[in-house]
Amino acid sequence: MQEHWQAALTDMRSRLSQENFETWLAPIGWGGYDAGKLRLRIPNKFYAEWIRLHYLDLLTDSLRAKSGERSIDVLWEVDERLASELKRSTETPSVSVDANKKASSSTRSDPNSAGKSTPPLGLRMTPGTIPPPSQNNGPSFGPARVSEPPRELPNLNPKYHFESFVVGPSNQLAHAAAAAAASSPGARYNPLFIYGGVGLGKTHLVNAVGHRVLESNPNARILYVSAERFTNDFIAALQNHKMDEFRAHYRNNCDVLLMDDIQFLGGRDQTMEEFFHTFNALHHANKQIVVSSDVYPQQMKEMEERLISRFQWGMVADIQAPELDTRIAIVKKKAEQEHIDLPDDVAHFLAEIVQSNVRELEGTLIRLAVKADLMHRPIDLAFSREALRSNQPRRENLTTVDDIQKAVCEYFSIRISDLKSHRRHRSVAQPRMIAMYLCRQRLNTSYTELGDRFGGKDHTTVMSAVRKIESRILSHDADVLASVQAIEHRLNRS
Ligand code: ADP
Ligand code: MG
Repeated sequence: MQEHWQAALTDMRSRLSQENFETWLAPIGWGGYDAGKLRLRIPNKFYAEWIRLHYLDLLTDSLRAKSGERSIDVLWEVDERLASELKRSTETPSVSVDANKKASSSTRSDPNSAGKSTPPLGLRMTPGTIPPPSQNNGPSFGPARVSEPPRELPNLNPKYHFESFVVGPSNQLAHAAAAAAASSPGARYNPLFIYGGVGLGKTHLVNAVGHRVLESNPNARILYVSAERFTNDFIAALQNHKMDEFRAHYRNNCDVLLMDDIQFLGGRDQTMEEFFHTFNALHHANKQIVVSSDVYPQQMKEMEERLISRFQWGMVADIQAPELDTRIAIVKKKAEQEHIDLPDDVAHFLAEIVQSNVRELEGTLIRLAVKADLMHRPIDLAFSREALRSNQPRRENLTTVDDIQKAVCEYFSIRISDLKSHRRHRSVAQPRMIAMYLCRQRLNTSYTELGDRFGGKDHTTVMSAVRKIESRILSHDADVLASVQAIEHRLNRS
């Protein structure tokens, strides 16, 4: 197995940038393999999280293909020796390079350029084994079963509970519906259809339903499965003449079916057909079904009408991109979970610069923590700006609404309170419109959020202010042009 592991790594090396490979995969130590359990040693617990989020599927796929194993669980072991080796290699860049350690690559020698590739070192880790992400412990419908069908443990993500989910206006409805479905499975809201953009918490909520049901009924048979996994299982079952087992698994041995990313079934006619019958069997037996998708039912491409209409039988709830306060709460919660000391102003800053995707928000926080640790710096605002700048080719991405408001006020010599007031005098109305325009243009902040940030104005007010400035710029209004350019110049310098 160790050779297969090395070969899988070589595969990954060709798929990833050298930076990412050296940072995240090269430091992994081999820990052994036994009966489907692969032990990997890592310098600290952040590696497990990061690798799971970004590389684990690719790695285990490649490993399965090479070894012929059908299911591989990864057990992570934090090995402090790896951390100290890494530390040593970073402290003495390009000197005494240990030939056996690919990790001591020169990509880390300059902490200022390290950016996203900086390895996490010594972040208050607890040595010991981190529970595996348990992605692959479902049954298998492949050929030549070695052992008896494995016990069907629900393969829920241990981190995705209702308790770790931050509720705000953007996700309130989906959260409430999920909680209701979990408290009386199969009764109301069946099926529950959750839709929302990428990284907005669908998988988190779907898993939370599973956990909540298990809390009140530990014997409930929960099946969490991505539509992709369902498809693969189905194909394997067909090939290996195991349809009976497949159906028993999905229809008879299941009390709650949590099907993630259903849009994957689009255009896969046979799988859709099978899912349709699975759905009917479960629904008929009053079993709870929760489905997630990144598009609204009617917009799912090449999805059968009859399935779409089934999805609308129950409850359809959407998740929108979170607004600022929710983003702040999420990033704080994540920091707390990961034991990262995060001052309020930095939480605010991170929430401002990453607006549309919670996964990215979390990634940015982790990168920052990793970098602060490596450089022995506290996570304060100055450090955060500096650290994230090297990752951001477009510096305007690091500007915040506050920055723009401040720059506009300085330029026009007015007060922030003027900007947020409802006064209509030209001396404040024009700067206010310019500030709104700049926020929209540089940050793409939503009109609603801008309305809030400018003293509680309606989104239509913001929209028309932005349009007004746009049209003045288009008509070469010298005054407006000069102001906008001067303020941009100011912002680009800071
Ligand atoms: P999706 O399935 O919609 O693409 P995920 O459920 O995988 O998104 O969420 C991406 C990441 O963001 C996960 O780590 C999840 O825990 C986190 N996340 C998303 N929304 C929230 C929220 N409201 N509160 C806490 N964490 C969240
Ligand atoms: Mg998801």
